[in-house]
Amino acid sequence: MILILTPNIEPESNTYQQLMAHLSCLPDIRLRVHREEGTEQTLTEIYLIGNTSSIPTEDMRDLPGVDRVVRVSEEYRVLGRHRDDDRSSHFNYQGLRFGQDTLHVFAGLCAVDTAEHVEFMMRALRDHGQVCTRMGAYKPRTSPYSFQGHGKECLPYVFDLAGKYGIKVIAMEITHESHIDEIQAALHATGNPTGVMLQIGTRNTQNFELLKIVGRQQKFPVLMKRGFGITLSESLNAAEYLASEGNSRVVFGLRGVKTNMGDPHRNSLDFAHVPVVKRLTRMPVCVDPSHAVGSRTRGPEGILDIMHATAQGVIAGANMVLVDFHPVPNRALVDGPQALLLEELAQFLEDVQIARDAYEKRVKLAARYEDELQSAVA
Ligand code: PEP
Ligand code: MN
Repeated sequence: MILILTPNIEPESNTYQQLMAHLSCLPDIRLRVHREEGTEQTLTEIYLIGNTSSIPTEDMRDLPGVDRVVRVSEEYRVLGRHRDDDRSSHFNYQGLRFGQDTLHVFAGLCAVDTAEHVEFMMRALRDHGQVCTRMGAYKPRTSPYSFQGHGKECLPYVFDLAGKYGIKVIAMEITHESHIDEIQAALHATGNPTGVMLQIGTRNTQNFELLKIVGRQQKFPVLMKRGFGITLSESLNAAEYLASEGNSRVVFGLRGVKTNMGDPHRNSLDFAHVPVVKRLTRMPVCVDPSHAVGSRTRGPEGILDIMHATAQGVIAGANMVLVDFHPVPNRALVDGPQALLLEELAQFLEDVQIARDAYEKRVKLAARYEDELQSAVA
């Protein structure tokens, strides 16, 4: 059970103290407090953990300081959608809204290689009105002999260039807790010119100790990739690890799953799960067509498979697209074969917009038919 308190309630206030004193007397119930500081208000939620079935919802609702009460099912307590659950499905970061109703494109380098390539990429993004990107500094590689990313060495110029080109959020994978400190230090040293969305890669989806640490910080939101060899439910539970530790600003990323039956693509596309994740949880959903498809193959009509996959995700309501570009793919140190060219950025963005417009039309169509159905039944 979750008690959502009146906004901006102070932990020092009498109301809060009385409430906590009362709750701590409930037999066999543990309390866990989540405070989320937004730009406009601070929200406090109290999780009652234990057997709450005998506690009447009304009794809790009538307590001082309590605004609303949500009864949660066992699955995905914080991030899940529960009955009568009107908690929001968005968060704000760097002045941008990330929700189940918005769409952001994060086009960029799979891995940072040179400052020049970073600058080419960011200039192209700025020229096309983009304010988000992806830039890999820490790369988890299948082979220990492959390039592992420039790590903290590249952060100062990546952040400086982001500031220069008006990039507000960079999706950046981390593979170790020390990377959070390195990112924070580099942002501080460069005067906080941009924001970072920490990415948990598919290989770390069930690295629970890393998830707990990332969940304990609230400075950076998190893009949590689906694990490529586990069930969707296991991946959603992994996202819940972040939220259970305090950070519920989580975007869930679909990136395909491993199966030879997925050939000829690198992974088997799972973008039909976009509405499933939106139904089960309150997380915005990202699709990564680059790591799902893995190549620049195209259909007989001339459209790249990556653009087809993107459109499939967006037309199903995806809220974020993470996609690899590179100014000179044959000089890329990671994933060059799947990178789109800067000359393809305009087409890509227009194609995304076509799919988004179609999605919005489909939502309106569904609402119209739902209305007609309701009036026919009435
Ligand atoms: C990436 O986005 O750079 C990446 C490695 O993705 P994934 O973890 O999905 O393989
Ligand atoms: Mn990659």
